[in-house]
Amino acid sequence: MALSVIDLCRDVLPQTNCGDCGYRSCMAFAGMVVSEKLSLENCPHQTRWI
Ligand code: SF4
Repeated sequence: MALSVIDLCRDVLPQTNCGDCGYRSCMAFAGMVVSEKLSLENCPHQTRWI
C-alpha cells in the first residue's frame, strides 16, 4: 500500500478518533496500518474502502 499516514487520515478514515480500533486517534491507527502492523479492516468506520 502506497498511502501515507496523512493520506489515510484525510481520504479513508473519518477522523473522529472514536477509539473503536483500540487506538486513541485515527492518526495513530493510520501509522500502524502504513507500517503494516495492522490491517485497515480494523477500522469499521472507513469513509472509503480501498
Ligand atoms: S476505529 Fe477508525 S475512526 Fe475510530 S479511531 Fe480508529 S481509525 Fe479512527
